[in-house]
Amino acid sequence: MTIDIAKISELDRRSVLHPFTQLKDFATGKLGDPTIVETGKGIRIQDAAGKEFIDGFAGLYCVNVGYGRTEVAEAISRQAYRLAYYHSYAAHTTDELAILSDRLVKMAPGKMSKVFYGMSGSDANETQAKLVWYYNNLRGKPKKKKIISRDRGYHGCSIISGSMTGMSFYHDHMDLPFSQIVHTGVPHHYWGGHPGETEVEFSKRRAAELDELIQREGPETVGAFIGEPVLGTGGITPPPEGYWEAIQAVLRKHDVLLIADEVITGFGRTGSMFGSDRYGIEPDLITVAKGLTSAYFPLSGAIVGEKVYQVMEDAADRVGSFSHGYTYSGHPIGAAAANAVLDIVENEDLPGKADTVGSYFQAQLQAKFAQLPIVGEVRGVGLMGAIEFVADREKKTRFDPGLNVGARVSKAARDRGLIARAMPHGDILGFAPPLVITKAEVDELVSIAESAVRSVMDQLV
Ligand code: PLP
Repeated sequence: MTIDIAKISELDRRSVLHPFTQLKDFATGKLGDPTIVETGKGIRIQDAAGKEFIDGFAGLYCVNVGYGRTEVAEAISRQAYRLAYYHSYAAHTTDELAILSDRLVKMAPGKMSKVFYGMSGSDANETQAKLVWYYNNLRGKPKKKKIISRDRGYHGCSIISGSMTGMSFYHDHMDLPFSQIVHTGVPHHYWGGHPGETEVEFSKRRAAELDELIQREGPETVGAFIGEPVLGTGGITPPPEGYWEAIQAVLRKHDVLLIADEVITGFGRTGSMFGSDRYGIEPDLITVAKGLTSAYFPLSGAIVGEKVYQVMEDAADRVGSFSHGYTYSGHPIGAAAANAVLDIVENEDLPGKADTVGSYFQAQLQAKFAQLPIVGEVRGVGLMGAIEFVADREKKTRFDPGLNVGARVSKAARDRGLIARAMPHGDILGFAPPLVITKAEVDELVSIAESAVRSVMDQLV
């Protein structure tokens, strides 16, 4: 099928409200035409004009199994022909849903019991908040409701998940954050560490600050802590050494639940099946989305630990049925897509690949970028990585935001056929390619990124 690019661009400009887009620049054409993405195969996508890109960000860190996987398309099609929809209210189910849930409960870290399904990471985190409140109401602690998240954490864009998100531009002009959400310090040693402070010391300080915050708010009012095992949208930042161990000790001391937001890190991205496995995290609740279906179908899950679930079941005679659910909770096509994707993740050992190819990728990033005069830090784990640009390496000063360094590097990469994301906070170029990427493709990606970074560097220094 040939796409009429001018016509589709015009229809789009007239009718689509695009997320994270400068509306006036788009409406007036200053941003140019929309990119009409038409096909994808492996780690590459192609637009309607025939231009090919390496997708160094796997869409939005989600197409982990790569584009064009016919096994997944066939599983979706089979299920759509067999039974396109049924709900999961009042104990209805499908074979795909039951099988998927059993797999998730068994493969997830910690002692998990049940999975509640949604359509997005945001709605799953909204569910997590309600579960925390429900749990504490049912066990007679009705004041224990506040949820602590981190500065620069990203947990979504809905009312509660958007409030959990710790970047103010996600709140501005939209009446967020909601009052029950409290923020604590970002676990990023490069910017947050004091001179001479080791990573372990910094982690202990962050944990002590969390302890103080909980004491200040009143432990009887704090229900949960939510964190991404590796900060994602806030800058692709692995935790400093000793961080999760120190944080979990504080949470246990105050009887505060831990929600691991594994929306990016779940299903292999860090080189382990879950980020929690990699960092010794024992969550009470786990949020999954993105990699669960590799974005072949919108599906998310709030995985509920035994501790929380048991309180819910024990109270059921008293409070009646669990009154939370969406029309599409446990959608059979999503479940079929997820089972097909998890088959690929397991059969092709994508966590193992993310570990080995990821180590190579991290080494290449370090080798090509760490010494450049405009680079402050190169960081990452598995197949997620970032280059952070600074005006002065010694003094650690940021570029004037008006210079748009991150966005310029991202555009230079795009002009050369590579999609790498200008992260929204700071001048950071982010990478999260599909987990099926090979070492040869890593070389190609890194070489384009190097050319892009050097071209912008030449304009700046
Ligand atoms: N949690 C994390 C860690 C995410 O990275 C995201 C999205 O990027 C979300 C939650 C929200 O997911 P969604 O965009 O599907 O609502």
